Amino acid sequence: MTNIAFIGLGNMGGPMAANLVKAGHHVVAYDLVKASLEEFVSIGGVAANSAEHALENAQVVISMLPAGKHVERLYLGDELGKGGLLSLITKGSLVVDSSTIDAQTSRRVGLCAKKLGINFVDAPVSGGTAGAKAGTLSFIVGGEVAAFEIAQPILSLMGKNIFHAGPAGAGQVAKMCNNMLLSVLMAGTSEALRMGVENGLDAKVLSDIMVKSSGRNWALEIYNPVPGVMEGTPASNDYQGGFMVDLMNKDLGLALDAAQASNSAVPLGIKASELFKDHGAQGYGGLDFSSIYQHYANKKV
Ligand code: NAD
Repeated sequence: MTNIAFIGLGNMGGPMAANLVKAGHHVVAYDLVKASLEEFVSIGGVAANSAEHALENAQVVISMLPAGKHVERLYLGDELGKGGLLSLITKGSLVVDSSTIDAQTSRRVGLCAKKLGINFVDAPVSGGTAGAKAGTLSFIVGGEVAAFEIAQPILSLMGKNIFHAGPAGAGQVAKMCNNMLLSVLMAGTSEALRMGVENGLDAKVLSDIMVKSSGRNWALEIYNPVPGVMEGTPASNDYQGGFMVDLMNKDLGLALDAAQASNSAVPLGIKASELFKDHGAQGYGGLDFSSIYQHYANKKV
């Protein structure tokens, strides 16, 4: 049994921490929201009254927070460097940050952890809340090989696919590249399907043709954006569940910032970001990202 401190029991962190409890570990969690802590206690976890309190006796610290500023504040402290958790974590422990954030912050925390003899990995996830509940997330890990090897058995209790992308920050970069590509694929698939429909084709017939032709891609294969074409997709459930437009916009923002920093050409990423931003601004932010099809159908493009 490992003593684990878990910071951030939100939509993702809550079910992830629950899977660690189910696996028999002693998990002490902290979140700003009291109700989340109460729910965690009801499934056998332990609630802490601060992040520092959660750390006591922990060999592993996991965080699942909204953005880079929260992660920076948690581990490195305020502008004066006061109150950061890293200074309180025992040498040789493992720190896993699974939040989706900018790679620079992951690198900064990783460097500081290394100086203190703490093993750090950034391990953003793919798979959404359903994957978090089912314990089938994909973890895209950045960090030293030794830290990755220590993290692997813990991550495998919450996920199915565990990838090592490279040094600290590489997990974040790989995740943003993937999600930028996903946005382009979903927008492109929606565009082609809508054009077909407006030229008299049936969306299901056209999907069947393209999925066996050179336009084949993940959106066509398992996440068709047109309502009624494929059972079990968000599109066939009023675009409920799945991966929200707002979260796609957050990830595209991170991807475009990273592209700017590396002076990388990402014209398609920029265009996809414009489409998803417009779509979110028209009230679709809380729906699944495949609802971008409706952006074409409503002629908002
Ligand atoms: P969320 O907003 O539901 O949860 C974040 C939690 O962190 C909240 O409960 C909040 O109270 C808590 N929190 C914030 N600051 C804190 C602090 N200083 N100390 C303790 N707790 C604090 O977000 P989420 O959907 O769980 O997402 C978490 C991360 O995972 C984000 O970076 C998101 O981009 C990423 N992600 C989300 C999904 C998804 O489908 N929701 C999928 C993949 C990745």
